[in-house]
Amino acid sequence: MFSTLDCNAGYWQIPVAEEDKHLTAFTCHSGAWQFVRLPFGLCNAFATFQRAMDMILAGVTWQICLVYLDDVIVFSGSPEEHLKHLNEVAQAEDAFCQARLKELDALSPPDPTWSCQAFFFREKDGLLCRRSVYGRETQVVTPEALKKRLLTHQHQSVLAGHPDSRKMYNTIRRYVYWPTMVVDVYKHVEQCPACAKNRLSERKHTTVMKIFTADEPFSGLAMDLLGPLPTSKGGHKHVLVICDRFTKLTRAIPLREATALTVTSAFIDRWVAAYGIPDTVLTDNGPQFASVY
Ligand SMILES: [Zn+2]
Repeated sequence: MFSTLDCNAGYWQIPVAEEDKHLTAFTCHSGAWQFVRLPFGLCNAFATFQRAMDMILAGVTWQICLVYLDDVIVFSGSPEEHLKHLNEVAQAEDAFCQARLKELDALSPPDPTWSCQAFFFREKDGLLCRRSVYGRETQVVTPEALKKRLLTHQHQSVLAGHPDSRKMYNTIRRYVYWPTMVVDVYKHVEQCPACAKNRLSERKHTTVMKIFTADEPFSGLAMDLLGPLPTSKGGHKHVLVICDRFTKLTRAIPLREATALTVTSAFIDRWVAAYGIPDTVLTDNGPQFASVY
């Protein structure tokens, strides 16, 4: 009989030593960061984590359980024995945690800055500042009268170049703070006339043009719908055009209605049945091609 136990946020339970934190530094759009808890990708992370698990479950591993990283497999011969084993594994973990907590209590007096994530203070020149919630930045608390000018400067000035709201917020929160800053930044960008104009023209070309080359016969198709046209005697008023982009072989299939279902049936009966399934199909993403039916 087996049970598997999975650790909750396994690696992150292990703190990184103060003197090693700078070795985990990385940068992203919101600034430079370093890990305070063991991240998954470090080359020693596996070994450190496995060693921690071996320490925690010392005495019971190989006897009643196996440990592979954050997976613990408890094994027993019968249900009764299994309950006993599960209890023993839980107790081993609990005993380890209790011992560590006792050590911690003995070592460190309660530190008020740990619970206070953000706090305000005055600089030497009397400027009211704030340590940011993320810990690294000192933000100047901006008075009401300067907000508008600051936002305009950060967005419309020649060097600012109309950043989008997120980018703009990430830039200014490194230096300044006021309680409604996020909302104000988003509102400011939303109301910028130049940005509004750009948003309209951007929508017309949302992606960079790309060349889709056809490499072999019947691997890449192009497909489009024509119509509605004048209704034929047979009741058809749409034409599904399918073209093999390599050989240029083209089929025009008349349709009575252009729905996802009729298009798919025509494609399967008239093309796939004769030439096989293509690797890619190029369409204009019209509803008949893009919908689920
Ligand atoms: Zn703008």
